[in-house]
Amino acid sequence: MKIAFLGLGDIGTPMAHHIAGSKHELTVWNRTTSKAEDFVKAHNNVVVASSPADAVGGRDVVITCLPSSVEVEELLHRKDGMLPSLQEGSVLLDCTSGDPETSRDIAAELATRGIEFVDAPVSGGTIAAVEARLTVMCGGSEAAFTRVKPVIEIFGKKIVYCGPVGTGHTVKAVNQALLAVHILATAEALVAASKAGVNPAVALDVINASSGRSNSSENLIPARALTREFPRTFRLALLDKDVDIAARLAQSVGVPAPLMQLAARLTREAHELLGEEVDHVEAVRFVEKHGGAEIRDTAK
Ligand code: NDP
Repeated sequence: MKIAFLGLGDIGTPMAHHIAGSKHELTVWNRTTSKAEDFVKAHNNVVVASSPADAVGGRDVVITCLPSSVEVEELLHRKDGMLPSLQEGSVLLDCTSGDPETSRDIAAELATRGIEFVDAPVSGGTIAAVEARLTVMCGGSEAAFTRVKPVIEIFGKKIVYCGPVGTGHTVKAVNQALLAVHILATAEALVAASKAGVNPAVALDVINASSGRSNSSENLIPARALTREFPRTFRLALLDKDVDIAARLAQSVGVPAPLMQLAARLTREAHELLGEEVDHVEAVRFVEKHGGAEIRDTAK
């Protein structure tokens, strides 16, 4: 198959590396061209496209992995954009964590040209991407999903068909709302315990053998907050975008979801305080600032 990949960011790059190493023919495009040029240095069989239009012409599957649906729409419609060059019968496989409504609009526009759309956001983080074991949640027609599944299998391990266009993005958004709730709630619990005189490392040891545990308490906070290392794998700005999608989605279907709405507000405030480039787990700094204590191992 001829495949195009647009968006060589933190997660897009390792995903594209696996496709470059497969039997398929790959063209890449990235807004910052130097990143695409660095990418092809590692794969001499891959071609760098000069524009989104150039990337997608004659391709069977076009993969986008961009910050949000806003950029997907922009790449379709800009002057040198994808839309006029996408070939009839091709599939746009959108691995962006996008918003379901925009994706349904895009799918409807593409359908008038005989092009299918599958939303296929991923989860598992950059480590799972490097190890080609991402979870991929897909929305689209079953026929289009069946066609692109062999491509998704190159970087995904658990691949779930969720239903029509937009359902992959819906599942991703609600998962991200849970992630934000878990990070913020665990941070609140540890800051409170710390101010009450308990070493956060000791509190975590107990929580992780008890019913309050989560991926945030078992993995994210010990490895990133307790160590104060905060490596960047997934930007807080992107989590803010995701939780906002979930909160708006809940509202649009008439579910009050006060926890989701609050998580969206707090994640936005943390993003505003900490800026565009910090990792999502740094949201704990926002809780620490208001709580007046840090989540660190006080025995060290
Ligand atoms: P990054 O911010 O690292 O990369 C974003 C990519 O989009 C870059 O290639 C960037 O280009 C490109 N881009 C940004 N704005 C534009 C624009 N206006 N026009 C064209 N290209 C643009 O994001 P990630 O790779 O981390 O995330 C990509 C998607 O995957 C997001 O939706 C995110 O929520 C999701 N995701 C990320 C995970 C992670 O662990 N990082 C995990 C699961 C999902 P440039 O290089 O020029 O900046």
